[in-house]
Amino acid sequence: MRKRIAVLKGDGIGPEIVGETLKVLEAVAEQYGHHFAYNFLDIGGAAIDKTGVPLPQETIDGCLEADSTLLGAVGGPKWDNVPGDRRPEKGLLGIRSAMGLFANLRPAKLFPQLADASPLRADIVARGIDFLVVRELIGGVYFGGHKTETVNGERVATDVMPYAEHEIERILRVGFETAAKRRSRLTVVDKANVLDTSRLWRAVAARVAADYPDIALNYMYVDNASMQIVKDPAQFDVIVTENMFGDILSDEASMITGSIGMIPSASLGEGTRGLYEPIHGSAPDIAGQDKANPIGTILSAAMMLKYSFGLAKESEAVEAAVNKVLEQGLRTGDMMSGGCTLVGCRAMGDAICAAIG
Ligand code: NAD
Repeated sequence: MRKRIAVLKGDGIGPEIVGETLKVLEAVAEQYGHHFAYNFLDIGGAAIDKTGVPLPQETIDGCLEADSTLLGAVGGPKWDNVPGDRRPEKGLLGIRSAMGLFANLRPAKLFPQLADASPLRADIVARGIDFLVVRELIGGVYFGGHKTETVNGERVATDVMPYAEHEIERILRVGFETAAKRRSRLTVVDKANVLDTSRLWRAVAARVAADYPDIALNYMYVDNASMQIVKDPAQFDVIVTENMFGDILSDEASMITGSIGMIPSASLGEGTRGLYEPIHGSAPDIAGQDKANPIGTILSAAMMLKYSFGLAKESEAVEAAVNKVLEQGLRTGDMMSGGCTLVGCRAMGDAICAAIG
């Protein structure tokens, strides 16, 4: 199989974690007889430094021409003071929007070898953590318009949170379909006691549910959901929610699985093309020190193999290789625990490549 992959390394630890992931993709290509061609493009702070904008047109065109896109992370203190419309994060929101990626899938799965790294009590962890957050990605308050104005002599800031029915329906359908491939339980997370958008989500969910009679559907307020994720995570199979709630809950979900450095994500639209990235940021505090955990990005590439290229066997081989190195006791600093061997980003990438070979 020949595939073109747009590669957006980004900022901070982005180049390091993406570098290791490309080594793993090459190991897969060699092992299974595929050919991946990479097109390296700029985004975020790196793009601002080169072109003055966080998302150059060339990057958008390159991603739209590719079969799929792999992204590291964007942002860092160097660009914290650039004007809002030219911040590195704008590049991220912009590419998701330009590619029409409305669904973000974030698995929260605890590798048993990392049980000690979970901040939750052992008896809670022992019940198992294996759920998936489906987050709406290109609507809601992050895209609804923002303004700061002066009213009666003081500044007043406003962010607007709009949701149209069709935007809600298409993400809910991703939630139902995903649940159907898992344990058939779907939780719609919202704030329907306060927000009109949430009440519309519930109305649409009730209608769409008629098409999925085998899925057990329940609703949960977001404040309760954030408590339940740490109290009894085993109750969840698939959570579907709007953009900002999903942003926050998926970070919480990742932390209970041990390290934010372990969690991949897939952003999908109508076709097979997707954007694959770890859920963490650019970690400027450890950038350039060979300390980053590349596994979240490597597992993102595994999701790309499965969801965009239909290469399920190869995807499973990458996951099995990650499992094997954890079994061997190799750990980066973020997930280190007693009796294990501390390794850097490069050594972790090499070990995973070796496990694939
Ligand atoms: P962060 O996720 O970058 O870091 C939070 C903490 O987790 C840090 O201590 C960091 O060292 C650690 N960490 C993160 N990823 C790690 C990994 N792979 N291995 C080991 N440790 C890891 O979040 P932050 O510090 O709030 O943000 C830093 C920058 O990243 C900011 O500019 C922010 O805007 C940006 N950001 C980008 C994205 C993205 O590109 N998707 C997401 C979140 C934040």
